[in-house]
Amino acid sequence: MPRRPRHSPAAARASADAAARRPARRAAAVVLAALLALLGLTAAAPAQAEAGPELAPNFKAPFPCGQQWTYSHHSAEVRRALDFIRSDGGSTAGTPTVASAAGTATRHSQPSGAGNYIVIDHGGGWKTYYFHLASFSVADGASVAQGQQVGVTGSTGNSSGAHIHYEQLLNGVGQDIRINGSALPYPGSYGQYHLRSDNCGNTNFTTWGSGVRVRADARLDAPVVTTLSGPTGVFVECQKQGDPVTAEGYTNDWWSRLRDQRGFISNIYIDHPDAKLPGVPLC
Ligand SMILES: [Zn+2]
Repeated sequence: MPRRPRHSPAAARASADAAARRPARRAAAVVLAALLALLGLTAAAPAQAEAGPELAPNFKAPFPCGQQWTYSHHSAEVRRALDFIRSDGGSTAGTPTVASAAGTATRHSQPSGAGNYIVIDHGGGWKTYYFHLASFSVADGASVAQGQQVGVTGSTGNSSGAHIHYEQLLNGVGQDIRINGSALPYPGSYGQYHLRSDNCGNTNFTTWGSGVRVRADARLDAPVVTTLSGPTGVFVECQKQGDPVTAEGYTNDWWSRLRDQRGFISNIYIDHPDAKLPGVPLC
């Protein structure tokens, strides 16, 4: 069995094995500091500079890492929106809508038009819109990471079918949409252009302990597909709730699906203080 449970509240860290944990906790703190530095840089840069298109955040696709969607713009559309639907065989309805850059998310509702929608304020005058959500995935006013799920794609409001209506605005004015710094074309129908998302968020983590079993599903009775002999850098594709795993009096029922190991581990063994990992979509 793995021996390094995490996700204890801070008070619990002053436990009997605190000395044994110290080196790893320091490592985690260094990683955290680096992350905060990165976040600080990305948040501060647009705000300090005079806003301009060349200083936009590095927007990524508003749908999950690895998926391919097609998009179109219709002439009656508000502003410079593009509407996205999946073109990789997956279902558009029910798929996560994700933040194309970090910022502060607010919830809105306009039943006769945009339906349930999220606005993310990225600073520097930049905002992105995500319309027609089936439901919200973040609290009103939440800070969100790039790639973090903000809603569930749907067809609320004035919409004829599930899609993400997506916009980028500078000081309230709709801009031509740019992804990874490149302007997208504005085709009049779907199927002409496709976009594959590299909006993978901060999904690289390190595991704890030795002998951590990777299972075929988020259940303790699921077959073991491989075992992590020691702390391992992992790419977390998504997370979901499964069997609760208890260690040192703390219980976590969130599990991460590891891309390279092709299986699940309990988030107890992911070196991160939160039970549910930030910026990681739901499976
Ligand atoms: Zn639209």
